[in-house]
Amino acid sequence: MKAHKNQPPEGKSSPAKERESARQSASTGYERFAGKGTLTPSTPVQYVKGVGPARAEVFARLGVHTVGDLLEYYPRDWIFVPEPVKIAQLRPDQTTTIIALVESTDYQDYRRTPLFEVMVSDETDTCRLIWFHGGYLRNQLQPGQVIMATGKVSFFKHQLQLTNPKFTVLEEGHTRGDPYFSGGVYPASARLSSGQIKRIIVPLLDRLDDLVNEFHEPAFLKQALLIGRQDAVRWIHRPPDEEKLAKAKRRLKYDELFLMQLGLALRRYRTLHFASATACPCSDEIDSRIRRRFPFLLTEDQSACISEIAADMNRTEPMNRLLQGDVGSGKTVVALYAALLAVANKTQAAIMAPTEILASQHFISMERYLKNSQVKRVLITGGLTGRKRAELLEQIRRGDIDLVVGTVALLQKDIEFRQLGLVVIDEQHKFGVHQRAELRKDGTPHCLVMTATPIPRTLAMTAFGDLDVSIIRHAPPGRGAIVTRHVDRRHLAHAYDFIRERLKVKKQAYFVYPRISAVEETGKDIKAATDGWQELSQEVFPEFKVALLHGQMPLAEKQRVMGEFRKGKIDVLVSTVVIEVGVDVPNATIMVIEEADRFGLAQLHQLRGRIGRGESKSYCLLFAETENEVARNRLEVMTRTTDGFEIAEQDLRIRGPGEFFSARQHGLPDLKIANIIDDYELLVMARKHAFELVSQDPMLAAPQHRNLRRTLVAKFGETLGLADVA
Ligand code: ADP
Ligand code: MG
Repeated sequence: MKAHKNQPPEGKSSPAKERESARQSASTGYERFAGKGTLTPSTPVQYVKGVGPARAEVFARLGVHTVGDLLEYYPRDWIFVPEPVKIAQLRPDQTTTIIALVESTDYQDYRRTPLFEVMVSDETDTCRLIWFHGGYLRNQLQPGQVIMATGKVSFFKHQLQLTNPKFTVLEEGHTRGDPYFSGGVYPASARLSSGQIKRIIVPLLDRLDDLVNEFHEPAFLKQALLIGRQDAVRWIHRPPDEEKLAKAKRRLKYDELFLMQLGLALRRYRTLHFASATACPCSDEIDSRIRRRFPFLLTEDQSACISEIAADMNRTEPMNRLLQGDVGSGKTVVALYAALLAVANKTQAAIMAPTEILASQHFISMERYLKNSQVKRVLITGGLTGRKRAELLEQIRRGDIDLVVGTVALLQKDIEFRQLGLVVIDEQHKFGVHQRAELRKDGTPHCLVMTATPIPRTLAMTAFGDLDVSIIRHAPPGRGAIVTRHVDRRHLAHAYDFIRERLKVKKQAYFVYPRISAVEETGKDIKAATDGWQELSQEVFPEFKVALLHGQMPLAEKQRVMGEFRKGKIDVLVSTVVIEVGVDVPNATIMVIEEADRFGLAQLHQLRGRIGRGESKSYCLLFAETENEVARNRLEVMTRTTDGFEIAEQDLRIRGPGEFFSARQHGLPDLKIANIIDDYELLVMARKHAFELVSQDPMLAAPQHRNLRRTLVAKFGETLGLADVA
């Protein structure tokens, strides 16, 4: 994130010095460097016993660079075995575990019941292991191996015996009594086995006094039912029992979530306090002047969002708010309200969209509300060049233009404002925290981010955790229901008949073909739509007007086609996913999605949002032929619900947080042990704790927060852009 104009005052604790001292303290300060062999969390992993330069490279590929990383290289699974017993101590009728050396093996297949017999020994005695029908074991057990076996003890022919025991062959290098067979199972690589990793980590567990420091206060730990951090690290790698493992997991998950939330809380504090925007107070007069522009009453949700936004804009702390609402829920109206409020306060407003189509769509729909308005507004497109462009930019710079609409790229490039009071960013379904940060180059305007992708509560708290959130949950009244059906090939003719009936009564339809995702494949994508268009126009619906729209068409051509569709001159619009953004035609009540199995849930939901905008009932037909379970699952969710939030939660569940949203891409630390879905309760607790802490001690300056501050800077300082605060 870029530095703000208003930095915290430089003084004896300048950010750079702080960072440096934190770095030093990691090596020389708190965990004092006491001579050769002393490890600290920041010691390169190479210097750990058993590693060395070659293995350090292998570790680097596993993301492990320092001793601290190594301690956070948590097992992916754990094995619990009972304490082994010496053979001399075995008692008949007990179920026991022994560790012993294989002396000999013998397969007796001449018996009626074939039998595999193994003689083992330890330093106290010998024992016989037998498996009925054990022929398959001939390849697995050989003399010289050390095995761990668990089974019921008997006394047979003067010899101790385990019958059909469960066993594990201990890795080479294990000796009898080796402590490394139980405990963690580590994610391994071809060049580093789980056992090798374990033998490197376990000895470190005796030195945790130097390596792990506690950063929560005892009273808090007690009240939150969390164990100490050192115990947690020790037990996650070498849990004495399941209960202690569970406690260790809980504590480490909590810390991970807590540190993330603390980073977010600090980032938020900084935007609020070290930058200032123009206060844009709203009066009853301004409010009613703006509301009069809309030919309808604002919904309750819209009004509530507007109050929240107006309260934010009334302050000099810059607004940093996310406006969520499904496609068609009425966000544009709310954004326009905010823009007009900024203009009423003699500042400029910019509205940015991800694509030109969407920007021009915004402009068109805003024009509907701004007839005869004094507000000077302009749409900046890529097609605008030369003198005309230069002139417009000059007018914006002088402050002669109040409201500027364009794409994010255009507005970021070379446009200078006289006084930018508000930036609205319509992200549709693309999250872009980075764009938000970059925008702030022209001072710090109030910032409203709009998204049509309902964000599951867990993500709202993490990915967007430093934003305030306003939600439009219910669409404006008078919308017809949407019926969604999964249609397979066998019922195609029937589906076409159904559509034909609707077209006859002057309803309109969309046919969407999938994008094949990669850029170089866009060609195919157009081809699919082109082929589809030919088939539909010539064979299926020759009596109707069927038109084609795709992303590679010139903007003017696209606008013409969309204009005609809007006016009802086109019955069927065949398209690639370009229509995902920017079409609002209430009379279009049919949405056919071809090869629907190839779309993600979020995209399917977006597409469906194009219908159901008028009063009549709408139909979404998902054409798909697939046996793929995940795809069928998605289609099933679509037919079951139209609630965007439910769909988003399902999407997150099906895809997992990693795929749904890459944390690292957005400047957040990757989570190693916690999972924002499964550990929701801990997340809520961590968030509350972190935000309270920052409100009490925003610089983490209190002595009792010293360790915490250090941990935070050492760990996430750079990625969270926190270094100048913490
Ligand atoms: P979004 O930006 O969330 O996709 P829009 O603001 O474009 O939604 O609104 C979708 C449609 O609903 C538009 O045609 C708009 O005129 C209409 N609309 C918005 N708010 C209301 C309202 N309060 N009452 C009736 N219609 C509304
Ligand atoms: Mg919109």
